[in-house]
Amino acid sequence: MTDPNPASPRLIVIDGPAGAGKSTVARRLAEHYRLPLLDTGAIYRALAWAAARDGVAWEDEAGLAALAGSLPISFHMEPLGEGAGLRQTVRCGGEDVSAAIRTPAISEGASRVSQHPAVRAALLGLQRALSTSGCVAEGRDMGTVVFPGARHKFFLTASLEARAQRRHAEIAQDCPSMPLDEVMAEVDLRDSRDRSRASAPLVQAADAVVLDSSHLEIGEVVRRIITIIDGREG
Ligand code: C5P
Repeated sequence: MTDPNPASPRLIVIDGPAGAGKSTVARRLAEHYRLPLLDTGAIYRALAWAAARDGVAWEDEAGLAALAGSLPISFHMEPLGEGAGLRQTVRCGGEDVSAAIRTPAISEGASRVSQHPAVRAALLGLQRALSTSGCVAEGRDMGTVVFPGARHKFFLTASLEARAQRRHAEIAQDCPSMPLDEVMAEVDLRDSRDRSRASAPLVQAADAVVLDSSHLEIGEVVRRIITIIDGREG
């Protein structure tokens, strides 16, 4: 992570189930290669949040697709504090929804709204438009549907236990009382929905490199990915 001017691959995509470490890996790769970060889960979360605000049911495919077609979402980099680096914030219609879209209720909403084919189709153009200058994109269908031509595709996975533990630690600040087994059930349910849906299911692209982070430090996962990318670019 010390090379001051690494070659900048334009598009790196990372797919995988919830809690596999995609967000951290994507953020570190974006910092390393100085590329924007495209958190597509945040887009589905913002849609679920906007639907709840506007009274559109998470089962109302046509209503959700209409909302998705003009979702006023934007991503911003903001300083965390002196010397503490940057964090990405998410705005919807000018309102900072970064925290509001991370609640268990919105996790459930995002999981449900993302099942509808019309919603996924309505968000396709937005995801591509947000990545025109290159990016590190993370989600479930980056390598298969949104950016099938990407040169650098990675599929990050881990055991259910490891993923639930990570997610539990992540949400501890906002939901300190949520027990681990409840988090595990939530993660498991969201993943089964993602894997079994008809439209753009969670599946690794045939040309993706698969990495299992169950017994690997996230830093090691990042190092392995950088080695692979630099080997190809070099
Ligand atoms: O990645 P994150 O957990 O924030 O995503 C929230 C939900 O959005 C996931 O549970 C998944 O159902 C959905 N999603 C998706 N396709 C993507 C990204 C997220 O279906 N590319």
